[in-house]
Amino acid sequence: MRIIYAVFALLLNISIFAQNHDKELRDLYYSGKFNELVQLSEEYLKSDSLNPVFNLWHGEGLVELGFFNKGKPYVQKAIEYIGDNDSRKAWALNYLARIEFLTQNKLKAKQLFIDCIDSNTSPKAIESSKFLLVELGLHDFYSDFEVVESEHITFHFQPNSIVSNKDEFVELRENAFQKISEFFGVKIPKKIDFIIWNSNEDAKKLGIKSLGYANAKFCVIHSRSNQTRGHEITHVITHYLANDQIKTRFINEGIAVCFDLSNNNRLEIINNQKEKDSTQVIVSIKEAWTNPKAYPEWVYYPLAGEFVFRILDKWGKNKLIDLIKNQTYENALLIYGEELNAIISELENEIN
Ligand SMILES: [Zn+2]
Repeated sequence: MRIIYAVFALLLNISIFAQNHDKELRDLYYSGKFNELVQLSEEYLKSDSLNPVFNLWHGEGLVELGFFNKGKPYVQKAIEYIGDNDSRKAWALNYLARIEFLTQNKLKAKQLFIDCIDSNTSPKAIESSKFLLVELGLHDFYSDFEVVESEHITFHFQPNSIVSNKDEFVELRENAFQKISEFFGVKIPKKIDFIIWNSNEDAKKLGIKSLGYANAKFCVIHSRSNQTRGHEITHVITHYLANDQIKTRFINEGIAVCFDLSNNNRLEIINNQKEKDSTQVIVSIKEAWTNPKAYPEWVYYPLAGEFVFRILDKWGKNKLIDLIKNQTYENALLIYGEELNAIISELENEIN
């Protein structure tokens, strides 16, 4: 009898242990600490390699860090060992769909998102799959969009597109892609899916947020027809400079504006925008850098673009790449030294 109790107590302990580990891993996932998630789940898998939950957290962490090929067998193992009624099965299907999309298997990805929705278990996973079907351009809604392929981009034009010269539109963006990816020396995992909408309202009807934007991780762009050729493409390319970047709005948007290939006069745009503002703002670049909502939009677009242009001009590409990987003001000070503050003051004096 005593042995039975001992075994029972041991099993109970193991189960409590596993639950604690699960909570620990879940907390890391939801706080975006994917490096730590991968390390810790790997540790737990060493003594419990078939544990479906540890496999799933490990696979999800790897996918979030951009190592989707490496994450695939873990997610597959989770699908194999998790029961059909368990809500985690839905997440495993959702993540395998993401992996298939990133490896250009769109039909498989679509089916897996649908399987996740049909599993009818985790409302959050189902919501995510429904949204990704739309955002990644996989939804049936897109079947009447006109698809045009260039070397690095798949274009999807809304029916009755307001783009009058599609050949020119495609060529300009393909050339922009080649120029920007060559500059940064980056290879992205798949062709960009470039979806061109006639209006914000049309996109909104389907659940797409305000145009235009890039989901850089999936190399997907939702664009208005009149956006600059380089802005969203730059978001996608620079995302793949490092897989655990620390992004700030000021630098991330500044880089996209700096490389938008538009030849816009940024200072002129800043002055025009300032005139339109109802209240006069005195801009502190450091404040804009650390607070993504402190100022009107023009501070985070043309002004940030001008700032990035100046530091690139003065200190060159390699240091800019270091900044893209960790975009905080503190890291910029480490990279550029105190002279950074002189550049900041100079630009502030010009615009305030
Ligand atoms: Zn942007």
